[in-house]
Amino acid sequence: MPEAHPDSAQIIQDNRDYTLFSWSVQQATNPIHMVGGKGSHFFDGDGNAWLDFSSQLININVGHQHPKVLQAIKDQVDQMCFAGPSFATDVRAKLGKKLAEVTGLAKSFFTLGGSEANENAMKMARLYTGRDKIITRYRSYHGATMGSMTASGDPRRWPVEPGVPGIVRVFDPYMYRPPMGGSAEDWADGCITHIEEVIQMEGPHTIAAMLVEGITGSNGIIIPPDDYYPRLRALLDKYGILLIDDEVMSGFGRTGKWLATQHYGIKPDIVTCAKGLTSGYMPLGAVIVSDKIAEFFEDHMLWGGLTYSGHPVSLAAAIANLQVYEDENIFEHVNELGEHLGKRLEAMKRKYACVGDVRYIGLFSVLELVKDKKTKEPLAPFNGSSPEMAKLAAHLKSKHVYAFLRFNWAFVCPPLVITKEELDAGLDAYEEGLALVDEMMGKAAVG
Ligand code: PMP
Repeated sequence: MPEAHPDSAQIIQDNRDYTLFSWSVQQATNPIHMVGGKGSHFFDGDGNAWLDFSSQLININVGHQHPKVLQAIKDQVDQMCFAGPSFATDVRAKLGKKLAEVTGLAKSFFTLGGSEANENAMKMARLYTGRDKIITRYRSYHGATMGSMTASGDPRRWPVEPGVPGIVRVFDPYMYRPPMGGSAEDWADGCITHIEEVIQMEGPHTIAAMLVEGITGSNGIIIPPDDYYPRLRALLDKYGILLIDDEVMSGFGRTGKWLATQHYGIKPDIVTCAKGLTSGYMPLGAVIVSDKIAEFFEDHMLWGGLTYSGHPVSLAAAIANLQVYEDENIFEHVNELGEHLGKRLEAMKRKYACVGDVRYIGLFSVLELVKDKKTKEPLAPFNGSSPEMAKLAAHLKSKHVYAFLRFNWAFVCPPLVITKEELDAGLDAYEEGLALVDEMMGKAAVG
């Protein structure tokens, strides 16, 4: 662990004086001065080690400063730092081949991140089908560029509205809160039948694709019923609509498989990915397309690409990162630890009055917090905060557990290399925080 940095306070001040922070009201930002990391921890300028319980932005899957990924980056920098996007490179060949192998799809188009991957996926779907509408879901996030932000369903899209034309939204397989009221059982069926209704009202011949997160991430880890994807795949096939699977957050081992949709035995037409593709060591995303779409672009123009598309250093980082997943049996580790995590989350739901629901798969999980288990009134309003959520956040911060909390959701999405001891330490801190919330609401722990 490093020593305290002598200029930390000044560095934070200069960051605030000379730079703009994303997704922030600037005067409300309170950034941590990050100086390094190792495995599941990162270090701040005061010499503290933080347990990174959200893997930064749910992306640093192999943990901080993995030596094999670092070495691959160094080697690539020494050999060739840049090649324009129309050049063939060995790293491009190698990563393209690997992504085809692990997804069962055909060809990859490389981007700088997830938002741009979704932009290109939507554009390719429009070119391929000759149709222009894209169906997305309300409880979704697909990125912060114009098209991806419009495609997102959650409040992050509001500032750019009306945005890019042609986006049509449907409701989510959110079984804890069926959007039409009624029972979860009814909604397990309704969440598909209403999509068909929307398709018919919009005109099937106008709809190019449906874009969905493999498993919904930042809108509360929404895990669909087992038959959702097989039924959705059949429905879209019936109308010649492509399925674009956004695996930016749920892909690359986060749920214990390469893609979250692989749990459901279906194959998308297009997969978009980023985050866990390089574990964040270099910026990279990809649009991976099926045979039929790859074939289409054999004799049709692929409109698009940026100066830095297929950057060799990013590709080298991805190749090494994927190798680490395999060499270190990381997905097995995720599945084992995920079982343990699930048991602990279920116990927390039984014990604390404020835990309404827990959802988990692999190391992708959330506690949904409520004021009352029966009424399910959220502990903070949608798109808002509350003193109770602030209390939990303050407690985790005091324990140097870096956690992703949003509205009434407390996420647990640690690096995939986290040890059982580290995971338990983080969950213990969550439990202390939940006990404080129960106390604040005047409800003692129930178990
Ligand atoms: N899709 C999903 C599901 C995401 O979670 C994110 C980022 N949180 C994005 C797309 C956008 O990716 P990026 O920030 O790399 O542009």
